Amino acid sequence: MPLVPQERDSLYVRVALDVPLPGLFDYRCMQEVEIGQRVIVPFGRRDLVGMVVGLPSAPAVAIEHVKTVAMVLDDMPALPADWLGMMDFASRYYQRPLGEVMMPALPPPLRKAAAYTGKRAAGGPVRRLDRRLEQQRKKPSPDCGANATDGVISAQAPALNTEQRQAVATIAAISGHDVVLLRGVTGSGKTEVYLHAAQKVLAEGRQVLFLVPEINLTPQLERALRARFQSSGGNDTAALAVMHSGMSDGERLESWLRAYRGEARVLLGTRMAITTPLPSLGLIIVDEEHDASYKQQDGLRYSARDLAVWRGHDRGVPVVLGSATPSLESWNHALQGRYRRVLLTRRARDVALPVVKMVDTRRLRLEQGFSPQLLDAMEQRLGQGEQVLVFINRRGYAPVLSCSSCGWVSQCTRCTAYSVLHRQRSGAARLQCHHCGGQGPVPRACPSCGDLDLKPMGRGTQRIEEFLAERFPEARIARIDADSTRLKGSAAALFAQVHQGEVDILVGTQMVAKGHDFANLGLVGVLNADSMLFAQDFRAPERLFAQLMQVAGRAGRHRVGGEVMLQTDYPDQPVYRALQRHDYDGFAQYALDERKALGLPPYSYQALLVAEGRELAQALQFLNDVRRLPEDHPEAYFMLAHITLYDPVPLRVIRVANIERAQLLVESQSRPALQRFLAQWSNDLFQAGRDSRVRYSLEVDPFEI
Ligand code: ADP
Ligand code: ZN
Ligand code: ZN
Repeated sequence: MPLVPQERDSLYVRVALDVPLPGLFDYRCMQEVEIGQRVIVPFGRRDLVGMVVGLPSAPAVAIEHVKTVAMVLDDMPALPADWLGMMDFASRYYQRPLGEVMMPALPPPLRKAAAYTGKRAAGGPVRRLDRRLEQQRKKPSPDCGANATDGVISAQAPALNTEQRQAVATIAAISGHDVVLLRGVTGSGKTEVYLHAAQKVLAEGRQVLFLVPEINLTPQLERALRARFQSSGGNDTAALAVMHSGMSDGERLESWLRAYRGEARVLLGTRMAITTPLPSLGLIIVDEEHDASYKQQDGLRYSARDLAVWRGHDRGVPVVLGSATPSLESWNHALQGRYRRVLLTRRARDVALPVVKMVDTRRLRLEQGFSPQLLDAMEQRLGQGEQVLVFINRRGYAPVLSCSSCGWVSQCTRCTAYSVLHRQRSGAARLQCHHCGGQGPVPRACPSCGDLDLKPMGRGTQRIEEFLAERFPEARIARIDADSTRLKGSAAALFAQVHQGEVDILVGTQMVAKGHDFANLGLVGVLNADSMLFAQDFRAPERLFAQLMQVAGRAGRHRVGGEVMLQTDYPDQPVYRALQRHDYDGFAQYALDERKALGLPPYSYQALLVAEGRELAQALQFLNDVRRLPEDHPEAYFMLAHITLYDPVPLRVIRVANIERAQLLVESQSRPALQRFLAQWSNDLFQAGRDSRVRYSLEVDPFEI
């Protein structure tokens, strides 16, 4: 709503700023300005970019303290009301100041004052970008790579099978908002369902927001989308914008602007894409909706999946949540009838799900962690020219280095954690902490007894890779984990090699488990799954089951005879039994029953307060203090009877980078009660935090506890 100033000197703006203070800030403004426009304002000794969220007739503080807006940014239209509404919701739901929610949601160049005021600002980042794009347009456009050969999804849409057709029809029939939970076994062709549903929305001239959990899944889908648009007469590749954290600030700004201006018809991205303004949004797709990567782990700890559902509701558009192993939260919604349940029960190609075999390792002699059965099966598959995936969720060479004479083990000096043995590219070994990132040399002798015989214990991807190179000298081996893919583009290159058949054995962590449609992979071997079996977190079994279903689902996708061999000391665990039967329903029922009995989510709602201090005692003290706040001021708190505040406890890894941590869990059977409690409590926490040297963070709907 444009505001015409009547008296120039009585115009004020209320601004949201990315500063760790609650509340909004009022400034005088001598120019016309709209809600949703950005301004540059003085704050302390700095200039900050902020968002105008209100036009008060008088400032909330004494007039003599009110400073003046330095610059009104008019390089793009004011952000729309629905976008501001989403930010406001996120701010209230996740209990963070509006400015700390809103500003980080913008591409970095749009929120840096220096991008507008510096000597070389040249009108700001938007105008600079537009000038550059204009120049590019004059040159002939380069080929966008839509013809790359390693994409598995062909430009020609396959004829959908009955289940896929029904799924597409269900989505297409939705007018207004509804959530479809698309549960399809691995290889059931969920991607085709998404593409068809998207196509219909695009034909209506509306935009599609397509979320994937990992950067590595974007290239495969990007190619599919581009190829499909081109072949269906869609005019140009420009209709697609991609957004993820691997992009430069400039690239991200370009995608964001093209989506905001409606030039991009599809926005494909990781969780950060959820906050992009989309003027003609018609459909939101969240692939692998159960994936932990949708949850931001610092700053605003939002769930992109949950925001997607909220946004779909707010905009009155359908939301499709897809997965082979839906989160128990979403599955429960579907069972209760709040989401529409759509099932794809068979693989789209004419192949069965892989056979899952348990290799009982209790009485076996293992060779570097491999059972004779697994090695034999690998040999056979390799002999038939098929690919093999060895899955082990542990990177590095060995999880710990130890002294065989005195029992010394390598430990990070700054964390309560082992330091992990890593091999550098040069072959030299280093000790690395996976918690603080600290690194150090490998001691030549035991620091405790001087013995020279230090041995790596256990194994990670690097050691597995080394062993397999000896064991299968002919085989071409690739390792895909966070270390081997650190350089930009290296993950894409490695996956392309696998798709092109240049790799025989793939060793990888959970990075290789999801989404990828490997054509020639016959066997999946799973090592050390047991290590995840007895974790404390109540979601651990759910996560393990999902991960194993995903990785198992990489086997035999394009031809019959896929096989999974899982090595375990506990073949009778319910998680494994369910996996063997590909029985999501059974597992979900078992897990939901257990959650219900214990009153855990989705039968309750949680928030987690984590405190960090120099010493654990400080953190615990802070938590104990704030735990008592509601009792001390019951008049300020509503529905306290519905709230459970548990005892503060140290985190599993107590110390990280010399900071000691403890947590306090808040739980309620009622989401509104929890929300009202948190609104009051987070105010009080802010006060308490100001007087304390302890730092804290509050997470709503925590994923890991
Ligand atoms: P999901 O994501 O459900 O695990 P994908 O979407 O990767 O499965 O599809 C698995 C494979 O099946 C892909 O190679 C895809 O090209 C193929 N596919 C999908 N739908 C069909 C269909 N209707 N007919 C034949 N092949 C199909
Ligand atoms: Zn020793
Ligand atoms: Zn450390």
